Amino acid sequence: MKTQIIDLKRRNILKQSLFGLSAVAAAAIVSPKQVFAEDGLPKLVEDDPMAIGVGYKNDATQIDIVKYPKRAGEEGAKQLCENCALYTGEKDAEWGKCTIFAGKQVNAKGWCSVWAPKA
Ligand code: SF4
Repeated sequence: MKTQIIDLKRRNILKQSLFGLSAVAAAAIVSPKQVFAEDGLPKLVEDDPMAIGVGYKNDATQIDIVKYPKRAGEEGAKQLCENCALYTGEKDAEWGKCTIFAGKQVNAKGWCSVWAPKA
């Protein structure tokens, strides 16, 4: 009887350990800070210090136009990463490279205060 109780305790400890390891492995695979775009480069996150410095948002409609009046009005609303001179992503791709964020990708519908029209 005592042996059965010890076996049940061991089994429960083993189950909990395996569950814990699975949770850690899953967290390592799906980290909210390391989301990758299709070509393998990580997507730029808005709380990246450099992104904060230039007011980058993945969705340009979320830009505070009081803080960044450059994006205000009808003309400002047309400013998107996909039509920025520094964007080098593929046409119609959701994410692409930007020359100021080396090794990361920005959202084609994003925006930052460095935006400049394509020539
Ligand atoms: S520089 Fe241009 S492409 Fe790069 S994040 Fe800013 S607006 Fe987007």
